[in-house]
Amino acid sequence: MDAEAILERIDRLETRCPKLGHQVAFSYCRQESGGLPCARTLACWQPRFPVELVLRRTVTEADWNRIFVEPPKSRIDALLDAIDRATGSGP
Ligand code: SF4
Repeated sequence: MDAEAILERIDRLETRCPKLGHQVAFSYCRQESGGLPCARTLACWQPRFPVELVLRRTVTEADWNRIFVEPPKSRIDALLDAIDRATGSGP
């Protein structure tokens, strides 16, 4: 079985999403954030399989660091960023 076939099988695994409150497939989790993984993917899936090994094949180092290493923005910071983008006053 090649890597793509293994990923297809893993993509079909399901778990209960704590954010949505219903079952979701791994294929959803690894693309949930605009095509990139949900920030909770490691925590949600690590008990089921070595999810980091899978994601390291599909996520760039820069995206990995932004998603899993850098601290998440507070709601206020995220709101201010959204306002800046909407008004064109951001950096
Ligand atoms: S990784 Fe994100 S989208 Fe997937 S089950 Fe966990 S919280 Fe839900």
